[in-house]
Amino acid sequence: MKLVHEPSELQSITREAAVSGQTVGLVPTMGALHQGHLSLVRRARQECDLVVASIFVNPAQFGPAEDLGSYPRTLEHDTSEAERAGTDLLFVPSAAAMYPYGYQTHVEPGRLASGLCGQSRPGHFRGVATVVLKLLLLSNATTAYFGRKDYQQLRVIEQMVLDFHVGARIIACPIIREADGLAMSSRNRYLSHAERAAAVVLSRALAEAERVWADGERDAGELSRVVLDAVAREPLARLEYAEVVDARSLEPPGPDPEEVLVALAVFIGNTRLIDNTVLDAACFGSGCG
Ligand code: AMP
Repeated sequence: MKLVHEPSELQSITREAAVSGQTVGLVPTMGALHQGHLSLVRRARQECDLVVASIFVNPAQFGPAEDLGSYPRTLEHDTSEAERAGTDLLFVPSAAAMYPYGYQTHVEPGRLASGLCGQSRPGHFRGVATVVLKLLLLSNATTAYFGRKDYQQLRVIEQMVLDFHVGARIIACPIIREADGLAMSSRNRYLSHAERAAAVVLSRALAEAERVWADGERDAGELSRVVLDAVAREPLARLEYAEVVDARSLEPPGPDPEEVLVALAVFIGNTRLIDNTVLDAACFGSGCG
């Protein structure tokens, strides 16, 4: 595996690969790699000739009161894990290399970025879309892999790629969970022992919504009430939002949506966690999840 720090070096290596007809798979991450990230790398390994993973804690997507300074940085561990999962090239740029002095151009996402996490994190998806566009261009990616864990991010990127005629295909990958259901996240490291036990409330609340959906409940208000009630039963949890929206538009669902997204953000102590599930209108009864 080759470690690359300079954007220009990444661009020239991947341009050569693209010119010689190789497919390039990109997996953008902020590091502190876990099995969720590595599942994306493995998928890219199966499908692409050259697998590029990036580790960049992108300052542009953090608010002033957020955890940019304390975000876990575990480069040695990440390097060996990325290599074991099949990465050919690991791109680890500095902030100065990505945003040199005088940098001034950003991607401004539209309505998809305004609700859900966009409400409490103004500017977050602008920062995400900007860095992802830069990484897509630098890596000459034919395909890029994103987790459904960050569902709104995935939709913002799908729309950006469409709007800007970016050639890369965007692949949405399933959420990888711990044995008790907690969605894997680099931020799970912040949790104390008691908080880690409480954090299972997110996936439990979503499982409740899946259960009532399977029983035929289609009312968005009722589905979100089920989630709110489940979160309220956990004393260490403080709900930021629980919403039921159309899974494509992220707007309130119409009378007959094909898929609805149930998404929530919850503080467990000082740690903000997110999770979601997509409920399929064609699905009745258990086992559809
Ligand atoms: P991050 O390092 O948090 O920016 O995440 C990098 C990529 O990994 C994003 O596409 C995330 O959606 C994805 N990802 C993070 N956690 C998971 C997970 N538990 N399952 C699947 N994908 C994940």
